[in-house]
Amino acid sequence: MMNETVINGLYIVSAIFFVFGLKMLGKAEQARKGNLISAIGMLIAIVTALISQSVLEWQWIAVGMIAGSIVGALAARLVAMTAMPEMVALFNGFGGAASLLVGWSEYHRYTVTNTYMEANVLSLLIIILTIVIGGATFTGSIVAWGKLSEKIPSKAIQYPGQQFVNVLIAASLIGAAMLFGPLRESLNVDSYILVIVTIVIACILGITFVIPIGGGDMPVVISLLNSFSGMAACAAGFVISNNVLIVAGALVGSSGIILTNIMCKSMNRKLTNVLFSGFGATKASTGGGFQGEAKPVSVEDAYLMLEAASNVLVVPGYGMAVAQAQHAIQELAAQLEENGAEVNFAVHPVAGRMPGHMNVLLAEANVPYEQLKEMEDVNPTIENVDIVIVIGANDVVNPAARTDETSPIYGMPIIDVDKARTVIVMKRSMNPGFAGIDNPLFFNDNTRMLFGDAKKSTQGLVAEFKG
Ligand code: NDP
Repeated sequence: MMNETVINGLYIVSAIFFVFGLKMLGKAEQARKGNLISAIGMLIAIVTALISQSVLEWQWIAVGMIAGSIVGALAARLVAMTAMPEMVALFNGFGGAASLLVGWSEYHRYTVTNTYMEANVLSLLIIILTIVIGGATFTGSIVAWGKLSEKIPSKAIQYPGQQFVNVLIAASLIGAAMLFGPLRESLNVDSYILVIVTIVIACILGITFVIPIGGGDMPVVISLLNSFSGMAACAAGFVISNNVLIVAGALVGSSGIILTNIMCKSMNRKLTNVLFSGFGATKASTGGGFQGEAKPVSVEDAYLMLEAASNVLVVPGYGMAVAQAQHAIQELAAQLEENGAEVNFAVHPVAGRMPGHMNVLLAEANVPYEQLKEMEDVNPTIENVDIVIVIGANDVVNPAARTDETSPIYGMPIIDVDKARTVIVMKRSMNPGFAGIDNPLFFNDNTRMLFGDAKKSTQGLVAEFKG
């Protein structure tokens, strides 16, 4: 058995590792190290908990670590970058399921030791809370995973009486919590039945919560569910009186809610609008509604323009991820630099379909961190940029967000590429992006449309430079 002071000391060390690890995730160049530091913190916490509670011999801990490392390494190697949101959704779901099991097993312990009736009401309420948040997070994340991977229809599924069903579910969960805790003496069925019914209703809540939200909004939902899984873990920490679980859960819970908030702000939408409007499903194709004519450009002519540029800014978007054009664009950037141009990449906070989507892809292609710029850094001087290459981005460069008060994205901060001297837009057609709205940028005098798959077009440009 470990001494209490040593245990708490180790828990504090792991909490410090979590906090520093999280802080380092905020900067691209430190993110890998931050991840590693957090993982070491988690390792210290788990090993300390298992040994201090005499739950397991160290041999079993070693077996668990090897098995977990193999699963983690395989997941990291085999899952495509673009499938990351799905993987995060699944991991979140497992976190929720783990919290549910902790709450359930704690209740089970009361029944085995016959102490349920004497138990403290607050502890019982926390057990129920852990079960409810854990169960809802589990099924909600599975539905989010299904929608993202298109295993189930990704459109927002709304049905009549939906609000009524939600109110009914919430009311029955509150009723169950009351019967389980403060009113348990008046309970005339076996409390085990009540717990099982609560687990089932919590799982239904997760489904009814996520089903009405469109696939495109899943990253926001996942970030929110991530926060929920943290809260469930925090509640589970109270249930089993484990300080480090409380700290880790609170960190995940709060960082998840901060990320959700950042994403909503960058999309200029309220969280309630994401959760209850079914917006992510509406992908009405309204391309071509603007007056004027888009000016197509060939790869050869785009090359001649780029060849003469001394200052180029690349703005990537979801289409770059679809085309997997990150390596090709990195190669083009290298060619441009060799040709004497200064090249930077401007990354919008909600470009792509998940937070950090573009950063991950550009890092995978070894684009140097110092070339990655944020929207706030490039916008003030964008007038001085010779050529902006918009590669598969649409909504995040739509000037209607600045100028058209009737636009659904009005007020959303964008990268002001229309203010640069010339813009080359790489996309396959005039189709709109995620928000389903027209983009006046495509009709501007200083815009040239390089139609085609982004990877093929970029490779064409690279070939021109090499030729
Ligand atoms: P958009 O979805 O606005 O546009 C992507 C564009 O890429 C499309 O117009 C499409 O045009 C083009 N494209 C698709 N495939 C290819 C290809 N193979 N080659 C070339 N072009 C291609 O992307 P943005 O990144 O600009 O904006 C992201 C949107 O997603 C925002 O509305 C944001 O609010 C939303 N969102 C972002 C989240 C995040 O966390 N990042 C989360 C949830 C939503 P075409 O079909 O003509 O080729």
